[in-house]
Amino acid sequence: MKIFAIIIVFSLILNPFRVNAGDLKELYSDHFVVVSDKAMDQQYLYKVKNMAEYFYKTLTQEFKFIRDEPWLWAKRAKIFVATDRDEYVKQYNCPEWSSACVDYKGKAIFTYPQQKEFSLILSHELTHIIFREYLGLSQLPLWLDEGMSVYMEYKYEKKPSNDKIILLKKMLSEGKYIKFEELSSLTSLELKNKTKGYVDMFYLEAFSVVNFLVKKWSRYKMSNFFKFIKDGYNINEALCKAYNIRTLEELESQWIKFYQQ
Ligand SMILES: [Zn+2]
Repeated sequence: MKIFAIIIVFSLILNPFRVNAGDLKELYSDHFVVVSDKAMDQQYLYKVKNMAEYFYKTLTQEFKFIRDEPWLWAKRAKIFVATDRDEYVKQYNCPEWSSACVDYKGKAIFTYPQQKEFSLILSHELTHIIFREYLGLSQLPLWLDEGMSVYMEYKYEKKPSNDKIILLKKMLSEGKYIKFEELSSLTSLELKNKTKGYVDMFYLEAFSVVNFLVKKWSRYKMSNFFKFIKDGYNINEALCKAYNIRTLEELESQWIKFYQQ
């Protein structure tokens, strides 16, 4: 039995691919299993695996999102790669306009190959999973959930955010932004029925609030803020404990002041 186990371990080190009963190819790494059709290009799958491992480590370290259960062995996350876009929509039942979709609880990401901005997509979706898992909440204010994911995209893709900040400043000077009372209560279902302009504004604002909290104070304070939420405080209480910001209006006015300087 022992020898059998050792042979399996060695064969996995030599060849991290396995073909399962459903004729799917599985590529194993420390924290992920990348699943695809067995004809999928191996180089591409290696690229996905390496990218996922890189983001797993960096996203976890950014705000000290240390969770009780690391994604090891049977707890690895899964990345399902369909052969193409049509298969992706058909097999995984993901929205047609999307480039990836996520099962947060099941720690699974569904996508398809050869996408231009795949690393952005992966860092965004992994942030959602890691962030929710760390906080232990299935329900999070949408602005914070999306704001964090977009913030991480900019941070780890080294994507310059200057253009976005200029646009935001313009919106603020014209008073054309989503007021925080509305921003804080928006749900993803409500967002789906909004115009593209509104959705873009929502993502920009969500990102800018996270960016404001990190830049005005520090990553350390942000980690404390998240720790308070993890410990059971609601968003308003956590804002007060970490930043001494007592109301949403106060957050809004400090955010405006920060970007108008
Ligand atoms: Zn998202």
